[in-house]
Parts: sequence; C-alpha cells; structure tokens
Amino acid sequence: MDEKAQEIIADLKSYLEYLKGMGIEALPVSEKFSERGSAPSVPPVTAETLEEIRTDLGDCRRCKLYRMRKTLVFGEGNPKASLMFVGEGPGYDEDVQGRPFVGKAGQLLTKIIQSIGLQREDVYIANIIKCRPPQNRNPEPDEIEACHPFVVRQTQAIRPKIICALGTFAAQTLLKTSVKITALRGKQFDLDGIKVIPTYHPAYLLRNPEKKRETWEDMKQILALLQENRDQLDGERR
Ligand code: URA
Repeated sequence: MDEKAQEIIADLKSYLEYLKGMGIEALPVSEKFSERGSAPSVPPVTAETLEEIRTDLGDCRRCKLYRMRKTLVFGEGNPKASLMFVGEGPGYDEDVQGRPFVGKAGQLLTKIIQSIGLQREDVYIANIIKCRPPQNRNPEPDEIEACHPFVVRQTQAIRPKIICALGTFAAQTLLKTSVKITALRGKQFDLDGIKVIPTYHPAYLLRNPEKKRETWEDMKQILALLQENRDQLDGERR
C-alpha cells in the first residue's frame, strides 16, 4: 500500500474515532439518490432530524414575536435536498398559512426554482426567523439571537450542497457579515462545508424587476454546481 493510501486510512480511522467519541456508532447512508444525484451523500455529522428540531421549537416563546404571531413557520420541502433556500422571516400570508414563501414574493420564488428545472418539493425552504414581525418590520437583534440557531440546525440536518441566501438579512445573518447584498450576491461562501450563494430577495425583485437578470446569473451558477456535484458522484460510482 502506498504512503498516500496509508495516510487516507489513518485519517479515516481518526474521523471514525471522533464520531465514536460523539456517540455516533453507525454512519447513516441515504437510501435514494434522487435527492442528491445517484450515489450516497456525505453522511451528516449530526444525528438530529428536522422533526426533532421542530419538536424542540414547540410552541416557541423564546422571543417576543410569539405574542403577535398566528402561526410559527418552520420551513418545508425535501429533507434530503441538495439545494436549500433561506429567507428572512414570514410575512402576512406565511403567518396565516404556516408555510414559507406563499405570498407574492413566494410565487416569484417558485418561478425562480422552476427556472432551473426544479419544483418546490425538490428543495427545502426556510427562514432565519420563524415568526412574523409586526407590520413586517425588520427582525430585531434579540429575535435573531433566539431564532438563528434553529435555521443553522436545519441546515445541519439537511446538509444541502448549496444554500441560496435570499436577500440582505439572510445572507448577512448566515455569513455573519455586514457586507451589502450587492457585494455578496453571486459569490460563493463556505458555511461549515456547505456552499452559500446569496442572491436578491424575491420581494426586492418585485420592486426592482431589472435586477432579475442578476438573480438569473446566480441561479445558473447554482445549477452548474448542482450538475457538477451530480457528475462527480456519478464518476465516483463508475
Ligand atoms: N419573505 C421571506 O423572507 N420569507 C417568507 O417566508 C416570505 C416572505
């Protein structure tokens, strides 16, 4: 066995020891590729499921928004999605229906998803905050602090290849930066091994339709990365 192979085996051994130390004895392997290509995906380090995260949220009263909300909007979609969208927080329609992105901005998001040949059910859609701020005001720091860990846990449970951060608020919160969306959009960032690509928020695109061209560029980039990942996995199988 050559030196490189020995090195890889030693690395793998220490990774398995690390997992064992965390109480993880078996590696979960996804059964279907349809969600991520045609080979088993990278196993999540976390054993936590979306259902467990939802249960933990419960009838959340961690911040003051619970008093004004009608429905907590957890998120929805494919729990094994390769692509996840993260928005800001529920608006009026989402608060009423308990589902993310179902109002006017949501209808545009659905079209954006379809523009790269996917359906809403293929991806996962969530928000940084789970309850509607009154009059759709911007979320406040204490609200973000209380809620942000839940979207991070959702990303860890899903382990998508790509997160598309929708708008200033989602991009800045996920990437812990104050850089403007105009400078962030279309670039790739790393969030714990997951690629984050920010783009404009669909509500902003409704007000500024000339910006749709840039979002289309960002979506093409996302599509190319998804395709690349698929080809890579297919290559590994051959
Ligand atoms: N805007 C968001 O950021 N999220 C939604 O769910 C709806 C509108």
